[in-house]
Amino acid sequence: MMTTPELVPVLTKEEIQQKIIVLAGMISRDYAGKELLLIGILKGSFIFLSDLVRHLSIPAQIDFIRASSYADTMSSSGTITLTQPVQIDVKNKHLLLVEDIVDTGLTLSCIKDYFRLQGAASIKICAFIDKYERREANIPVDYTCHTTHEGFLVGYGLDYAENYRCLPGIYHLKM
Ligand code: 5GP
Repeated sequence: MMTTPELVPVLTKEEIQQKIIVLAGMISRDYAGKELLLIGILKGSFIFLSDLVRHLSIPAQIDFIRASSYADTMSSSGTITLTQPVQIDVKNKHLLLVEDIVDTGLTLSCIKDYFRLQGAASIKICAFIDKYERREANIPVDYTCHTTHEGFLVGYGLDYAENYRCLPGIYHLKM
């Protein structure tokens, strides 16, 4: 029997905007005077990245990569494929990898290794949500707006089978 999924509110759009202003202030201070390149990981980060950059008070470049993800499931395969590389040369740049949510950390661990080999000056991680219960990779999340230990979250760019991305808030999807 098909049941209708329940959406339990986690963060309102107002709470999200307040948290992003604080985060953008921290990033602007930490990267003042440095050549900053923000790399959004598609598709989930597109709304977060676009809100974040509009609150930065320092110059920054922006690019995107695309990595294979969970497809229509709720668990990580552990195998990451880069399906769209960056266009901008990352050599000697300070990279901030912008992700919607870190779960096992396997995706960002692979992506970080990839950019390390390309000669970036530094690589840090900015994830809108840091979900740590299932963390497998030893990977620091340097900047985050929200920390949670479990649950499958949707909205504000995060999808389930390509649905729910357009919701302005974050919700816990209960099947
Ligand atoms: P990781 O490699 O850290 O396990 O997976 C990160 C990716 O898995 C995220 O970019 C996102 O696409 C997906 N993911 C992990 N947890 C969630 C979640 O709670 N909700 C949604 N919508 N995607 C998730």
